[in-house]
Amino acid sequence: MFSENEKAIENIKEEQCWINPFKLSFEMIKGVTELVVSDDDIEDAKERLSRFAPFIKKVFPETENTDGIIESPLREIPRMQKALEEEYQTELPGRLFLKMDSHLAVAGSVKARGGIYEVLKHAEDLALSQGKISLSDNYEKFASDEMREFFKQYTVQVGSTGNLGMSIGIMSAALGFTVKIHMSHDAKKWKKDLLRSRGVEVIEYESDYSLAVSEGRKSSDLDPMSYFVDDEKSVDLFLGYAVAAGRLKKQLDDKSITVDGKHPLIVIIPAGVGGAPGGICYGLKRIFGDNVHCFFAEPSNCASVLLGIATQKFEKANVRDFGASGKTEADGLACASPSSFVTRIMTNLVSGIFTVNDGKLYDYMRHLITSENIRIEPSSCAMFEGVANLTAYENSAEYFKKQGISKDILKNSTVIAWATGGSLVPDEIFTEYLNTYL
Ligand SMILES: *Cc1c(COP(=O)(O)O)cnc(C)c1O
Repeated sequence: MFSENEKAIENIKEEQCWINPFKLSFEMIKGVTELVVSDDDIEDAKERLSRFAPFIKKVFPETENTDGIIESPLREIPRMQKALEEEYQTELPGRLFLKMDSHLAVAGSVKARGGIYEVLKHAEDLALSQGKISLSDNYEKFASDEMREFFKQYTVQVGSTGNLGMSIGIMSAALGFTVKIHMSHDAKKWKKDLLRSRGVEVIEYESDYSLAVSEGRKSSDLDPMSYFVDDEKSVDLFLGYAVAAGRLKKQLDDKSITVDGKHPLIVIIPAGVGGAPGGICYGLKRIFGDNVHCFFAEPSNCASVLLGIATQKFEKANVRDFGASGKTEADGLACASPSSFVTRIMTNLVSGIFTVNDGKLYDYMRHLITSENIRIEPSSCAMFEGVANLTAYENSAEYFKKQGISKDILKNSTVIAWATGGSLVPDEIFTEYLNTYL
């Protein structure tokens, strides 16, 4: 049964599909997962975001037409589906949709879910404990000079490869916090520039993500007024991501899309440390149970979530210890070790992981622009590897068979490629991406 793991670990540098041998029926483990993060916890997170909506609407006018709720469209992309079919000379099952977190307001990436949620939660905790606000107040109050003055005495810090720093930095600065972002060498210059333009202190490291995190954590621990957002183990980040599931359910309902045993939902999400895809997948499992099949996508040079789960070494697994370089063009996914919390909770939930070579990310990106005229960043394109190869690998085809999903049922599936970033990428950087061939 576990030869699947051994094979994947041995081939950790290669493009591959790993099917998770630890996955259990959700009905079997629902009770256990409840103890970690419950439906009430997710509901509580959703309500917190609603309380902050008036503040967000006021400070970020681009959220005007969603009334301060940061949510992204779900768009069917049939021309992209056709483009992939032509490229790979194959037929892809089901209807293909793009969940456009690439275009989430404020931060332009999936990090607008987890990162922003955690900052808001911290701000609310501080304001409540100091009697600055009560739960029944209109949270537009958070936009006042008095509140900004209050938050200025507190610091928020985070280690990031780029996008997490952007979401935390932008929202913390908007609330008035003093902000320090510890950036790994993968972080793109334009992201650092954008943050500095908003008054955020950016500290650069010549090393990878794990070091930026540990240095950030150290710096924060020295200061009693400082709060560290810990991407490698934060439950609040996870909750912010999990809220996506209920909102997706509503979008599917609005499109009259059924999800049941005869109409599976297949979701593929790029993974860095695993927080974003893990939180979203967890939320989806709680709603759709065994009828949703969650796959992650990682760069083949940096498949840390795959490694963490397959070895069961979790956060102690580092791709470099297994012969992979950890280096990737996909800056949003450049985490050599995965999240401790997420690899544990995903062990029995994630269906599998597709890994992809960097060069293909740019190819997928070009296909999406040519076919649908949608721009997303290279990291975000990793999920198309799963879309294109859903049944192309022997083990992935076998997976669906074992789940009782025949070819005919697969034809009725809804496939969601979760786009995780891109709308803030400046034009000149995009032009560079467009001309990158690896
Ligand atoms: C951060 C990020 C991810 C993955 O999120 P993790 O929580 O690190 O797994 C995926 N895509 C993009 C563009 C990101 O910035």
